[in-house]
Amino acid sequence: MLSLQEKWRELDRLNNAVLAINFYNFETLSSILKAAKRKQLPVIIQATRKTIQYLGLDVTLGLAKSARKQYEVDAWLHLDHATDLDLIRQCIKGGFDSVMIDASEQPYRENIETTEKVVEMAKPHRVNVEAELGYVAKMGQSREKIRFTQPDEAKIFVEQTGVDALAVAIGSAHGFYDKEPRLDLELLGQIHDATPAALVLHGGSGIPPRQLKKAIKKGIRKINVATEIKNKFIGSLKSELQHTDDIDLRNIFPEAIKEVQHLIEDKLDIVARENS
Ligand SMILES: [Zn+2]
Repeated sequence: MLSLQEKWRELDRLNNAVLAINFYNFETLSSILKAAKRKQLPVIIQATRKTIQYLGLDVTLGLAKSARKQYEVDAWLHLDHATDLDLIRQCIKGGFDSVMIDASEQPYRENIETTEKVVEMAKPHRVNVEAELGYVAKMGQSREKIRFTQPDEAKIFVEQTGVDALAVAIGSAHGFYDKEPRLDLELLGQIHDATPAALVLHGGSGIPPRQLKKAIKKGIRKINVATEIKNKFIGSLKSELQHTDDIDLRNIFPEAIKEVQHLIEDKLDIVARENS
């Protein structure tokens, strides 16, 4: 398996992206890996702090590593949206391939300083570092005062911090959208021209495939999908439980796993080579 940093360079040449999907338990992880295997595409498997708290760090690591081996899929393990440097340190030491430091809500200077600290921690371990510049609304946060990433700020930010990947604010948001989002593709193109960092689009759930493909052409290298995974998994369980008295969870979960797998297979078509 290439390092993620090597993968970015390959994707730059191909002008393509990799899908990054959050997992929450064995079931959602196996949905992701089965879809990747079926489509013969690599993926990034992401865990947040909450997932690590839920599973425990050792289980998160062990599960991810043994599952990607079992399914024979290239899958980089990434820490999504971390703000806590201790957690980041533990994940780097434990063997994560990639970490995200999200200091995007801090002022620009402090964001640079915090991100620099993480790059310093990660470098000796060759762990990929993603930071966020600008402001992508979190679930439940106001979408009114979204601050888009500015190309000149992105250029300086990447030069000063040495990050490998940069999450940009160009009109996406976390969670569900009330109306179809419109990405600022012109701005994205300018950011891509200004910096060599792999650009990341958060809030990929609910953005139409057509827009995602255009965003890839303009320089997006990683597309994050989380909300839709939870929504599909729980939705499937709810409807299934309505018409069964079966208590055997090994009979109940596979349908939800399959539905999430199909959702991810459709998403993976966005980055499949024949479509790029
Ligand atoms: Zn995100």
